[in-house]
Amino acid sequence: MSTVRVRFAPSPTGFFHIGSARTALFNWLYARHTGGTFVLRIEDTDAARNSEAFLAVIYDSMKWLGLTWDEGPGAGGDYGPYRQSERAAVYREYLEKLKAAGRTYEKDGATWFRLEGERYEVYDEHRQKTVTKVKTAPIVIDDAIRGRVERIEDEDFVIVRSDGNPVFHFVNVVDDIAMEITHVIRGEDHLSNSSKHVALFQAFGVKPPQFAHIPLILKQNGPGKMSKRDQGALIEEYQTRGYLPEAVVNYISLLGWNPGGDLEKMPIDDIVAKFDLPGVNQSNARFDDKKMAHMNMLYLLALPPERFIAAARVYFTKHEVFAKAGVTSDPPAAYVDEVLLLSQPKIKGLEELPAYTSYFWTETYPTDEKARAKALGKGDPQARLAELGEWVQSADLATDAGIEAGLKALAESKGLGFGDYQAVARLAVTGLGAGPSITAIFRVLGRERVAARLGRLAASLG
Ligand code: GLU
Repeated sequence: MSTVRVRFAPSPTGFFHIGSARTALFNWLYARHTGGTFVLRIEDTDAARNSEAFLAVIYDSMKWLGLTWDEGPGAGGDYGPYRQSERAAVYREYLEKLKAAGRTYEKDGATWFRLEGERYEVYDEHRQKTVTKVKTAPIVIDDAIRGRVERIEDEDFVIVRSDGNPVFHFVNVVDDIAMEITHVIRGEDHLSNSSKHVALFQAFGVKPPQFAHIPLILKQNGPGKMSKRDQGALIEEYQTRGYLPEAVVNYISLLGWNPGGDLEKMPIDDIVAKFDLPGVNQSNARFDDKKMAHMNMLYLLALPPERFIAAARVYFTKHEVFAKAGVTSDPPAAYVDEVLLLSQPKIKGLEELPAYTSYFWTETYPTDEKARAKALGKGDPQARLAELGEWVQSADLATDAGIEAGLKALAESKGLGFGDYQAVARLAVTGLGAGPSITAIFRVLGRERVAARLGRLAASLG
């Protein structure tokens, strides 16, 4: 067991988004890579902005992604409690330490942290008032990703508000000390806080942890950081849309991390083995929903059939696909499995399944008008329908190869080609112009359905 202790420290003030997931993932990966400990700490001191509902989404999303925590809510550990709202006693104790060291003072009812250095007053144009500045040496943040960063902190800052609530900077540092965190891996947006944090660590007489500020995730289009409001930002959304968690994890791992070479789809064990802080880029990553969808497709394609079926069935239940298709009792399991297997190599995501398979569940599937015009626009569709209708009565529909041979023989007997039957057959049995192979559709639908559908289209043409 290594001594590495990392933490993911979300504030439950909003939904769990790609950025949170990536920070959680990089911490988890680093812990797993080094054999260290992954701590989940909930930074919920801001009672007005926190909600139990958001907290539940954090737990749920992390579990869904497979980012299990070794210490934290529900997992226990020797450094608890792991919710800041339950750690008031710890903060009081640490505040006393700072007081005893002469590093605090009271002003306007709040407790301030006193920087070390000579004080002087200046008029601040921006704030339109006189402020007290402190002459300090630059604070050095030794960052595993960004290298040596120097920042000036030249104003004392509040650590406990007048309402008695401790401020983020204070509780964040106290907990990193109390929980013996060795590496702080967090978003680059926190780099501007780190100089305050280093000053606090020093005031406590504690060596700061190794910082690693990971690059921002930019929104797909246009400048700026991806926010929770951007399309595709919420992890919950991928869960609902039936994305595979391993695909989401794989895609997110590549947002700002470079495993070297052209590696893209990688089993999680390989990601864990390869992940390290020097491999994290300094430059920002750009979110791309097409790449995410593509990754998901690669994972769907590679799923063993029984796992694909299981995932699709979960999706069908969650989205009430049969009910929405107007089916009152679920089709036989073996039939559903056949339809799903037929679809696996053809779809990009589970969310495409309802539309892709709709005509398998009901006789009242819609007709694509363009496909209809095209299929009926050439040759003699009525004659072909009649021939197909007769053929299907006695055709061997057991295998795709058998069906293909049968259709070819039928075409040949009329001096025609396979292609002369395909479009009109597809239109009749699916209402569409594209989809799985017509032979597979015939096989899965079976004689009765195929015959009825051919007959109905023939009848509609008069
Ligand atoms: N609660 C902070 C956040 O949600 C944590 C910052 C940190 O990881 O230190 O961003």
